[in-house]
Amino acid sequence: MAVLGTAAEEVVGAKEQGRVRPWLWQCALVATVGIVGVFQVLTPPKEIHWLYILQRAYYVPIVLASLRWGWRSGLMISLLSGVAFAIGTPPVWNVRPVDVLDQFLSICVFCLVGLIAGVLTDKQRRQQRALETATDGLRQANRELQENFESMVRADRLSALGRLSAGLAHEIRNPLASIEGAVTVLQRESSSEERRLEFLDIIQKESWRLNRLLNRFLNFARPREPELQAVSVGELLDSVISLARHVDGSGRLELKKEIDPTLSTVECDPEQMKQVLLNLVMNAVQAMPCGGTVVLAARRGEAGIVIDVEDHGTGIRQDNVERVFDPFFTTKDAGTGLGLSVAHQIVTQHGGSLTIPRNSTDGSTFRISLPWVAAHQHGQEQNSYR
Ligand code: ADP
Repeated sequence: MAVLGTAAEEVVGAKEQGRVRPWLWQCALVATVGIVGVFQVLTPPKEIHWLYILQRAYYVPIVLASLRWGWRSGLMISLLSGVAFAIGTPPVWNVRPVDVLDQFLSICVFCLVGLIAGVLTDKQRRQQRALETATDGLRQANRELQENFESMVRADRLSALGRLSAGLAHEIRNPLASIEGAVTVLQRESSSEERRLEFLDIIQKESWRLNRLLNRFLNFARPREPELQAVSVGELLDSVISLARHVDGSGRLELKKEIDPTLSTVECDPEQMKQVLLNLVMNAVQAMPCGGTVVLAARRGEAGIVIDVEDHGTGIRQDNVERVFDPFFTTKDAGTGLGLSVAHQIVTQHGGSLTIPRNSTDGSTFRISLPWVAAHQHGQEQNSYR
């Protein structure tokens, strides 16, 4: 019976049949052919309808063999069925040539059915194997892609860390050099009280600068989770405006507030949001060295609240737009380059986004979009937040 299936086909057969061995199936099919033949022999010639049924019963093992092991096995069982059918046909059938022809055609149809079913099965198996190979290939490609991506992310993180460290070192070096210089001068010179105060002032200012830088860096490196609460939009903008006036100190700063009257509260961490807004406002002020108006406008957006900080300053150079959110990117002599990256991080932590929808030589607009967080967290209270 080995001829009924090649080794490869047997393996496929074994897989498909679970624990039942292929040759057991083959024996069962041959036995079925034999049993149908025996029944055919034992059926009296006058029971013609039974003979017709038995003749068609041969198709069962033929089709099963073709489906299990392909066209070779199908053909073998077909020929075997043909022989059994010929032997089992009562002699009375053979007297007329038309009966002989019928018998011959039946055997041909057996073979044809076995062959066609087997060829189709083989074709389907080949397609399945090709599909499996393609799937394996894709799986492998996906694994490699994943590995490449992970190593790229690792490399990217390392290079970001490198840039960050280099930036931090650079930012610390300048104030340190100033402090060192001032201390050296103070140590050496028997200078006037006025000179001493001047250098002490330098030391104090540079220490503040270092402190500010470190605070910002810590905020950037270890941002704390926002403590969300419902905050009045008007009060939030008012406190930012008064803080900005205090920080600016020039008295020339003009700040305008525009709030959609239907907006009452926004859910955010008030301290963090003030920090973000103050940073945007101070950047806007610094972008207008000759003075001008900074507008803080709050309105309803598509998915939440939108707060715009608009200025009519110098705008951001087109080739810098992509870099302004990078840590340590600054175009200012005394800048830290951490303000926007920290702001971006804080807004992202609130589930929102910080974008620049307008930028030209006529100034720029920074946009904070915050989702209606309250709608998710406090269910019923959501209406009072809008
Ligand atoms: P810093 O203010 O310390 O430079 P930031 O991260 O806040 O750091 O800003 C990065 C850079 O983005 C600034 O140096 C400036 O070049 C640019 N920038 C930010 N806001 C504005 C603005 N409103 N108009 C023009 N340029 C801006």
